[in-house]
Amino acid sequence: MATILTNSTNSVEACSDTDVSWQRAMKRAIRDGIELCEKLQIDRSELNRAAEGEFPVFAPLEYIRRMSPGDPNDPLLLQVLPQAAESQSGGLLDPVDDLGNQRSSGLLQKYPGRVLLMNSTACAVHCRYCFRRHFPYSDVPVGIDSWTSSLDSFRHDESIREVILSGGDPLTSNDVMLGQLIDTINKMPHIRRLRIHTRFPVVIPQRVCETLLEWVQAARMAVYFVLHINHANEIDESLRVAVRQLAQKGVTVLNQAVLLRGINDQPSDQLALCEELINTQILPYYLHQLDPVQGALHYEVCDAEAQAIVNHLRSQLPGYAVPKLVREISGESSKTPV
Ligand SMILES: *Cc1c(COP(=O)(O)O)cnc(C)c1O
Ligand code: SF4
Repeated sequence: MATILTNSTNSVEACSDTDVSWQRAMKRAIRDGIELCEKLQIDRSELNRAAEGEFPVFAPLEYIRRMSPGDPNDPLLLQVLPQAAESQSGGLLDPVDDLGNQRSSGLLQKYPGRVLLMNSTACAVHCRYCFRRHFPYSDVPVGIDSWTSSLDSFRHDESIREVILSGGDPLTSNDVMLGQLIDTINKMPHIRRLRIHTRFPVVIPQRVCETLLEWVQAARMAVYFVLHINHANEIDESLRVAVRQLAQKGVTVLNQAVLLRGINDQPSDQLALCEELINTQILPYYLHQLDPVQGALHYEVCDAEAQAIVNHLRSQLPGYAVPKLVREISGESSKTPV
């Protein structure tokens, strides 16, 4: 498939997942709004170049392939295309006060018993509504040496039972570094659970490679993956395979979604998403109300509408398929039920 790899303007259909490494998939991802429009046969007037300058486009071909060419309202496209509404004023740079809750640089603790380690600052996709889209990642240390101070801060803290790897996307770290990190955490007897917050299995499913599966299997801790899927169209066979492989290694796979105006705000969207999730053995965990981050307020759905959607889900689905509708409020000791 070398001809495909070297030609970044190949058609949407021509891209093949299975024989391209995840690193290669990162390299060939679309990083230019105009190229994204051309690939999907969308008029360039849909693109907001100024917003792109603030938060660049990053969309892997594996994800783009699930979009409908010619549809400017495709629910996956709208998650990655810089749009006119992003220039509206309002919103916050750090909507959930991540900067005020660092135990050490890159290590957040907001809730009892669990810490969140931002072990990577890069993502496998850039989501326009990202609550960390303005986060000063350049200040976060990455690499095993720089993680040491974070690890030291909970190495002997018996109150911490769970470590969440986040970022960015924690799986952008290479497997050698990740293996060392997990090995180190594995040796702390009080840490009973490892949680990985990642979009990789969705947007570049081949990231669930043999090496990753090996260290998951080797972990002494209970391992949870929390994916981030917002629309049923994001679920395809390659994701199903990745989830099955994780499940075979004993991983529990959960999903968090964000409720987004124009993308998944119809009751039928959420119904299809939750139904498809449980068919794939992914448990819906949270449905988040949008964090009011600058540049993303146009995605907001009001609480009454959000509650009506979840009530609809409850009336149609088994209890385990209904996510908890929550909002993050700074200073609260958990995500807050809406
Ligand atoms: C959201 C979040 C968590 C996870 O919360 P759960 O309710 O355990 O899923 C943990 N730490 C931080 C800093 C968070 O923002
Ligand atoms: S993958 Fe997560 S952290 Fe990365 S841009 Fe998307 S929402 Fe933000």
